[in-house]
Amino acid sequence: MAKLHGKVALVTGGNSGIGLAIAKRFVEEGAFVYITGRREAELDKAVAMIGGRVAGVQGDVQRLEDLDRLYAQIGAEKGRLDILVANSGVIEPQRIDEITEESFDRVFDINVKGLAFTVKKALPLLKDGGSIVVTSSIANCKGFPAYSAYSATKAAVRSFVRTWTAELKDRRIRVNAVSPGPIDTPILDSQAKTKDQANELRERFAAAIPLNRLGSPGEIASAVLFLSSDESSFVAGVDLPVDGGMSAL
Ligand code: NAP
Repeated sequence: MAKLHGKVALVTGGNSGIGLAIAKRFVEEGAFVYITGRREAELDKAVAMIGGRVAGVQGDVQRLEDLDRLYAQIGAEKGRLDILVANSGVIEPQRIDEITEESFDRVFDINVKGLAFTVKKALPLLKDGGSIVVTSSIANCKGFPAYSAYSATKAAVRSFVRTWTAELKDRRIRVNAVSPGPIDTPILDSQAKTKDQANELRERFAAAIPLNRLGSPGEIASAVLFLSSDESSFVAGVDLPVDGGMSAL
């Protein structure tokens, strides 16, 4: 039996990388999945790639009216949500001596405030006994140069999981985080100016990972499937690193 048969799920940032792999996996496991992102063309491509039981809803998690429109659509079409994966996020590497207010605000707005309101506004639709998974990062417990704002946003996200687990326990809603290590997605390219620099970054990360390679988006999807499904029915409030051992050794 498929692990998510008949479930309704939302994956924010589902038009690319990790979110796209999660959405694809959820559909393979029997769910109907809504995916979001700001780029309409990428959304259309992702919907076509997944093929069935998927809908794309364009939106920016920084705009609360976009979240209202998203949940109004899910409410009208399905009447409920069983699984929420709050995964949208950006990295803008800047050392503390060069960080700009604009970049600092944007990274916190998307990764922290956008994620918090994605969860808050989902609650009326989310079924009792449902599951929330947020995408943090092993950066939440590491000191990578130029990642101060990003890492702090991911530590905030990890912290949310503890508080929300306590706040939502009477509704039996489980809240957990997945913390990827370096995963081969477009977010790695977004941190480099040229293709060569992006390849260097990939090599540097791979060399720092005990398993000696980058992770794949599908490997994060497997962990998120576990955290979203009844397979993890007694798991709550945790941060699951999926990082080839990078944060453990
Ligand atoms: P990605 O391919 O760049 O995906 C990022 C996703 O977030 C895209 O779908 C993007 O869609 C969406 N997004 C960004 N800003 C948004 C906004 N304001 N509103 C709505 N959606 C927005 O990178 P990824 O690696 O899959 O990243 C997914 C998550 O994993 C992020 O939270 C990231 O921090 C986390 N993570 C990644 C790694 C890694 O090594 N890849 C490691 C640890 C954690 P649009 O651009 O169309 O809006």
